[in-house]
Amino acid sequence: MAVLCGSNAEVCHSKYGCFPTKGKYNHEMALRILLANIESHANRYKRYIVPVLSVSMDFYIRVFVRVFTSANEVKKTPLKLSYVYQCVSCDSFHLQCVGRTVTKDNTVKCAPGIGPVVPQGCSACGKKLTMGGPIWSGPMHDQEWVVSTLAEAKSRKDRYPAYNKIASVLTTISEELHDIPLYFSLHNICANVKCTSPSAVLFRSAVINAGYRISGTHANPLGLKTDAPWDVIWDIMRCWVKNHPVKEQPHDSQAAAILSKSPKLEANFSRVASAISRAQAKKIKRFLPNPERHWGPKIRAGRKITSKHASLLGPDVVNRAINGAASTKDENVAAPNNPTPETGGTATNGEDEPSTKRQKNCDDRLSTEP
Ligand SMILES: [Zn+2]
Repeated sequence: MAVLCGSNAEVCHSKYGCFPTKGKYNHEMALRILLANIESHANRYKRYIVPVLSVSMDFYIRVFVRVFTSANEVKKTPLKLSYVYQCVSCDSFHLQCVGRTVTKDNTVKCAPGIGPVVPQGCSACGKKLTMGGPIWSGPMHDQEWVVSTLAEAKSRKDRYPAYNKIASVLTTISEELHDIPLYFSLHNICANVKCTSPSAVLFRSAVINAGYRISGTHANPLGLKTDAPWDVIWDIMRCWVKNHPVKEQPHDSQAAAILSKSPKLEANFSRVASAISRAQAKKIKRFLPNPERHWGPKIRAGRKITSKHASLLGPDVVNRAINGAASTKDENVAAPNNPTPETGGTATNGEDEPSTKRQKNCDDRLSTEP
């Protein structure tokens, strides 16, 4: 999962044939890298995939796809793949389709796409753009299937022990914009320009008032998907900053570069009803709280537990493991002056902070759900 999320680009390229980019959308990108990889393998056997459901939840991703056989359809694969240009400084990203359709003598063919679709530098802040991909840029879910499965699950609640989790994930997915790959986080783009964040409803309203669509994403409670170009998104932020001024930023900072341009669009922040998701309006839960404290991927079996694992397992478990190991050692070595390892003491000092931080982050994440 870490490789798919971009922690090691070289390994990701060697295993999945795709370069990940460092964006805030990494969980969805992981899904799209995996789908592109499955498609690439299917194509070798004249087969192609149609994704039914692609889920990023807890600490893993899972995709469900249908596989069909058609040599003709396989030729259209480049139309479902895209390169990603990610700015190294701000959160702007752009997609470029690998292929395009060309009609010649009444036959439709797939040809290489024309590019680049972006200038040499980021149009918002002027910094360089890195290129990643190709990722799957077609729909990740079968909308009809998602809606019907959600209805089915609702009708037989008792038969699904994990009904709450299933319902929340499927509800969020059913409200996603299915034709928009990747997402950004409102908090992160506000951090780019160092301003206070507008509420999600206000920001969504501004995008809708500008004539574009916007939705949430199941992969991140704070993520937003929209078909609005980045110029429009930054213009909305510039208008927001006009009314909510920020401290003067250093001249060479990304915030100064973005805010130095005057907006071409006059953002309208008046609230619209469609800015709130249907599930939110009906008070249906879209993201569930963590089932227990220190919820997270545990350490690999056989690893020695040390103080650095406190944020994963909790201070109590780590203390018990360290003290347990120390007492066993004392029993085995019967020397009276054998010094007891001091790791127990240092562990408590160092571990409280990350674990509370982790808990706090979880709480923040839930309380700021858009
Ligand atoms: Zn930029």
